[in-house]
Amino acid sequence: MKKHNFYAGPSILPQYTLDKSIEGIKDFAGTGLSILEISHRSKEFIACMNDTISLCRELLDIPSGYQVVFLGGGASTQFAMVPMNLMVKKSAYLITGSWASKAFKEAGFFGEAVEVASSKDKNFNYIPKNYSVPSDADYFHITTNNTIFGTELKKEPDVAVPLVADMSSDIFSRPVDVSKYAAIYAGAQKNLAPAGVTMIILKEDLLGKVDRPIPSMFDYRTHIKAESMFNTPPCFAVYAAQQTLQWLKDLGGVRVMQKKNAEKAAILYDEIDRNKLFVPTVTDPEDRSVMNICFIMADEYKELEKPFNEFAKSKGMIGITGHRSVGGFRASTYNALPKESVQALVQVMKEFENNN
Ligand SMILES: *Cc1c(COP(=O)(O)O)cnc(C)c1O
Repeated sequence: MKKHNFYAGPSILPQYTLDKSIEGIKDFAGTGLSILEISHRSKEFIACMNDTISLCRELLDIPSGYQVVFLGGGASTQFAMVPMNLMVKKSAYLITGSWASKAFKEAGFFGEAVEVASSKDKNFNYIPKNYSVPSDADYFHITTNNTIFGTELKKEPDVAVPLVADMSSDIFSRPVDVSKYAAIYAGAQKNLAPAGVTMIILKEDLLGKVDRPIPSMFDYRTHIKAESMFNTPPCFAVYAAQQTLQWLKDLGGVRVMQKKNAEKAAILYDEIDRNKLFVPTVTDPEDRSVMNICFIMADEYKELEKPFNEFAKSKGMIGITGHRSVGGFRASTYNALPKESVQALVQVMKEFENNN
């Protein structure tokens, strides 16, 4: 039976990336060696790293004055590295979920972190609006896509201070105006590559303003200078990212991807809205994530939650159990997920409705 992969992360990758990964594991760039056993200082791997960075620049239209680095440590390490490198005295945070809360907590270790607004009052099922950001904040941190709660900030908030964004789960899903950001970071395991590497885009002239000493490994300037080779990078994950970016480029880039993603999301949200058994957890269409679509059983059908989960599983739907802090269901519809998988899930929802 065909499996449809709706996992939230690590998550589905393009078949192209999987095929090229197998190829690279057997024989990387015609070296006769595996990507798993080759020196990161080899000219072939340096070319791979450089090409991966160029593809990022090209696909996101990253302006000059910005640098791209690939580091280990996951997005969670960036929660601390961002304030360490960019917060002189004060930073502002929009609290839209668990990841945003974790990022906010880390900033508190390095200075005054201000919570400008939070949607915690409604279990993060909306994006706060009408808040004001202190004009003396060194940056305003947002989480563009809230992987667990299924909300998304689809365009940059209009604020006077530089933005910093955790884009772990919607990077490369749509165009982004990078010029509005001081930094953008994204763990690879949602839309790009297997776990192990994090992409960071940095506005170079905002670095070097803080007084605190920064250990070398945590200083962005170290990694910019060393072109992401200060220490051994996660070579295989970088190689896989290169393949996904090449796939995305061949497909037409982030604008084409945005259309495909919007189409997939519309198919599923329409069914959730239509089907009497289910209700969406995020009601305002403007706030609904295009990447992680959350829904629960309608009140009168609560007892059908487990049976639906089992029914869906029996039909090949993998990874649709909602995060424990939300319950219900979550279908992650990342770049690599084909429309056919979304259609198959909708079919299963309809069938279950007819049976009940
Ligand atoms: C998954 C995720 C993280 C955590 O990433 P790690 O690489 O596990 O540290 C952070 N932020 C968002 C938005 C995520 O989806």
